Amino acid sequence: MTAQLKDAYDVVIVGAGPAGASAAKTLKDSGLDVVILEKCRLKRDKMCSGIILPSARKFLADHYDPLPSHLFTNPRELKGSRCLYTTGPDRGVVTCPALDLGEDAPNPDTGYSVNRFDLDYWLCEESGAALVDDCLVVDCREEKEHVELKVKQCGTYAQVKAKIVVGADGPISRVRRSIAPEMDDAVHWIPLYEEHYEGSITLEADWMYWILDPAAFGSLLNKDGILHLTAAATPRATARGMVNFFAGFLKERYGLKVTRTVLTRGIVMNTMPYLENYFLGKGRMLLVGEAAGFVRALDGITSALVSGKAAGEAIVKSMGSGEAALSCYAGHPLVSAEWAECKKLQPGLMKRGFAMG
Ligand SMILES: Cc1cc2nc3c(=O)[nH]c(=O)nc-3n(C[C@H](O)[C@H](O)[C@H](O)COP(=O)(O)OP(=O)(O)OC[C@H]3O[C@@H](n4cnc5c(N)ncnc54)[C@H](O)[C@@H]3O)c2cc1C
Repeated sequence: MTAQLKDAYDVVIVGAGPAGASAAKTLKDSGLDVVILEKCRLKRDKMCSGIILPSARKFLADHYDPLPSHLFTNPRELKGSRCLYTTGPDRGVVTCPALDLGEDAPNPDTGYSVNRFDLDYWLCEESGAALVDDCLVVDCREEKEHVELKVKQCGTYAQVKAKIVVGADGPISRVRRSIAPEMDDAVHWIPLYEEHYEGSITLEADWMYWILDPAAFGSLLNKDGILHLTAAATPRATARGMVNFFAGFLKERYGLKVTRTVLTRGIVMNTMPYLENYFLGKGRMLLVGEAAGFVRALDGITSALVSGKAAGEAIVKSMGSGEAALSCYAGHPLVSAEWAECKKLQPGLMKRGFAMG
């Protein structure tokens, strides 16, 4: 479904993740000419546990068609999350509130397990917006009446004009860099690493396991019979070193047997949500999802969907009223609500020993 790139659009969205797809849906529903530009070939994968938490589940039920069955992995629904402590008196399997690490009572709903490869593409398709892949946005420059984007599509440079740009380009955002390099210099990174194994383990498949160690934390998930082991770096340990350490711990304590390692990869998160350093954009360029620093703890898909919708609605309002899109976005009730959610969950996470250093 990828489209031919045109010279000009009402709105250009940079990034085909859930934030970009959600903004695109809201804008398309209002009849605007919208394109999503994605640097990767689609469908593209994204390193993520792929758990649709109750809040995202509700958002999708309220705004989208039912999720088609090909998005789900097996098991399709998780019972909740459990903690495995590597040391201390809690050493063993400890149940923690069902995939809800907030301060509220455990949510009776549980999380869906999906693959991002299919989910993100489906969300983009549902938006009805034009989608151009293999199209890296290199730079965005604001002119008097529009934004000029420099893109590299299939190896060739081109210019595209937009009345408004939505930067939905994830933790390392070129749009953010283009509009506020000095602010971007202050953003730091948390590396994460994961390995996928064919093999077996004595732990039940339909739980998410958090592995808690004084040096760092990790997670273990069973998706379609493949074990996904992930760890985040801290000042005390590298992410890769922790995955190796956790693999040894799981072998010794829970009978992990690896017959083949099928995938190894890494990613970074930015520290914006941990420092409450949100950035909504500048002029005609709005930021959403991780590019803006919106990541509820362990629930970034919800933040992406909600902030994308807020930006979409702000742009529609701005085009009707003449008010600046950024001020409509900053004043949108979903934005303050999302800030509050991100703020609420980060300390909860820290308290439970997931601190990033
Ligand atoms: C290890 C890990 C596990 C996670 N597990 C969960 C989970 O289980 N549940 C949950 O809710 N959240 C989870 N998250 C968080 C969640 O993955 C993110 O918060 C969410 O994907 C953010 O969505 P986004 O649309 O803002 O960005 P992304 O999903 O990162 O999408 C950004 C897109 O922009 C594209 N792009 C980047 N730069 C450019 C450019 N210059 N030009 C064009 N395109 C560009 C990228 O290729 C990408 O497709 C996890 C995160 C990590 C790191």
